[in-house]
Amino acid sequence: MSLGKLIGVGLGPGDPELITLKGLKALRNADVVFYIASSIKESKVTSFSFEILKQLEVETECLPLVIPMTGKNRETHYQNAFDKIQEELKKDKTVVVASEGDALFYSTFGYILKIAQEANVDCKVIPGIPAFIATGAEGERAVTEGNEALKVIARPESFDEIEEALKQKQTIVVMKMSVLDGWSDFLEKQNRSFFYIERVGTPQQYSTANVQDLKLRTIPYFSLIIIYA
Ligand code: SAH
Repeated sequence: MSLGKLIGVGLGPGDPELITLKGLKALRNADVVFYIASSIKESKVTSFSFEILKQLEVETECLPLVIPMTGKNRETHYQNAFDKIQEELKKDKTVVVASEGDALFYSTFGYILKIAQEANVDCKVIPGIPAFIATGAEGERAVTEGNEALKVIARPESFDEIEEALKQKQTIVVMKMSVLDGWSDFLEKQNRSFFYIERVGTPQQYSTANVQDLKLRTIPYFSLIIIYA
């Protein structure tokens, strides 16, 4: 049984003002904050969470947990990440794992939480604004209303999967959409309005509701689309 406490904190989608007061307090009061990084090369850290953390007024020590985005051995990476956290917990520390967006919505923290619960660690989760909710606000249009349903698809296998979902009158959110090529052709065929965004809440934010703008655009990892009901 660990002594310390593990808290997952959702940092929000990118704008440092879009974290909850509770999340910010947890970061400030923690003994150590870990953030997920996809790589560290020559002391250069690649981490969207760290980009957000840097902009917050938090003096707590922040350390990376490296988990490559692609590649095998993910289970081993999660276990290694937990082992690092566990070392701090054994010293009776309060450890925060900071996650972009919400901490339990397609987030690495979800895997870490499972391992921590199995190890009987005292855990708590503070939610954050997910990127698609922030995107809804930028789109200035109701994501869903009345009795409409919402379907979230992450890392789609094919456009057929999305087309199938579009047969119903529901709003579709596609996360990790960069795995598919040919979005403009696909959207042109659909008779649905949409709102596409990259890096919502950051100075690099780009958005469009016009299919022509997507013709020559390279879709980055931090992008998503809302296809309205
Ligand atoms: N926990 C996050 C989701 C992480 S999964 C959340 O609650 O939103 C990673 C995917 O989330 C990306 O491929 C992208 O589809 C989406 N995403 C996360 N942050 C984003 C941002 N700032 N702008 C656009 N998409 C984002």
